[in-house]
Amino acid sequence: MREVLLVLNAGSSSLKFAVYPDQPGDRPPILRGKIAGIGNRAVLSARGEDGRALPRGQLFPVAPDVGHDRLIPALLDWIRAWQGGLSLAAAGHRVVHGGSRHHGPARITDDLLAELDTLKPLAPLHQPHNLAAIRIVAAAVPGLPQVACFDTSFHRTQSRLAQLFALPRAMAEDGVLRYGFHGLSYEYIASALPGLLGERAEGRVIVAHLGNGASACAMRNRRSAATSMGFTALDGLMMGRRCGALDPGVVLYLMEQKRMTAEQIGHLLYDESGLLGVSGISNDMAVLQASETPEAREAIALFCYRAATEMAALATAIGGLDALVFTAGIGENSARVRQGICEHLGWMGVTLDPAANAANATRIAASDSAVEALVIPTNEEAVIARAVRSLTAG
Ligand code: ADP
Repeated sequence: MREVLLVLNAGSSSLKFAVYPDQPGDRPPILRGKIAGIGNRAVLSARGEDGRALPRGQLFPVAPDVGHDRLIPALLDWIRAWQGGLSLAAAGHRVVHGGSRHHGPARITDDLLAELDTLKPLAPLHQPHNLAAIRIVAAAVPGLPQVACFDTSFHRTQSRLAQLFALPRAMAEDGVLRYGFHGLSYEYIASALPGLLGERAEGRVIVAHLGNGASACAMRNRRSAATSMGFTALDGLMMGRRCGALDPGVVLYLMEQKRMTAEQIGHLLYDESGLLGVSGISNDMAVLQASETPEAREAIALFCYRAATEMAALATAIGGLDALVFTAGIGENSARVRQGICEHLGWMGVTLDPAANAANATRIAASDSAVEALVIPTNEEAVIARAVRSLTAG
């Protein structure tokens, strides 16, 4: 029976999965897909080895209102029955928070799970779901080797200065630090840079991960030197629904003058702000781009302005800029956003080739641009699969 590796990315209302052959080297997944709308109106979509969407008849039935605890075992049964039978050799999970101790992926043990449980308060929207998925898989397939891959690990190469807040020292010792996120995406991009940039890959590179969540990372020698997200995934760039960097005085004002509770403020900052809040229309960049309203235009303009000013600040951490990389849904697909950001960064020597940019080409810098500009589709699942292979080999 064909041995496979399972990659899971369990969010609050979604479950992304990919199934890779258990063989050395990067190979395309045999299956990949997503269950969206979990707990409400769950819908499964998946693609086969050829990358084509599977017809409904080849999918498994998903009850609209069940949780991860029933969906994951059903997913495992479906995978194991796929094409005459697949045998699960190991599983890898995206885990948003690894704290300050984990500089790389780790084999799951009871002790590790207990340690990661203590980080739930630092990432309450993601960590509980990530860890629940690990436990559900362990219960469904006892003894299956499992690996946790952390979104924070890639940033552990940062200097102490890049990780500190200007708060009383005791708070840093208590774990109030800039951890950074989207590390699996940045790790993938870092691994793809040499093939595209040669020796320049080791230079000063800023990667903009622009999806529903958005952040940027300044790299030197393909390691993280600084990043825009901090203690939580709320800091930095403006996002689909999240505000990004905010004067903390606003939070005090909302508490003291508007009498808002922590829960209400959390909802405001995580769910009602960003593109959605500023446009009043949608959190979805593609929807806003199709809108002619001044509010949509202003939301996109603010997204570009905020991204550019954050990226310019990050350039200081690496002493300038040799290359700029765009990735994730918006970064890979929105020529308008890339152009909008690069217009603000012209003073740093970035000029785009309009035709290449419009075509979402890999190389989008003009021939006379001092700074290289690239579009690289990210692949967090591939990074997890690599980690599972290396930690479970033999
Ligand atoms: P997630 O962070 O959930 O993984 P993605 O990386 O898939 O999100 O990014 C989702 C964002 O990408 C949405 O705002 C979506 O509108 C945007 N996007 C996807 N395709 C396009 C497109 N062709 N033009 C503009 N924006 C796009």
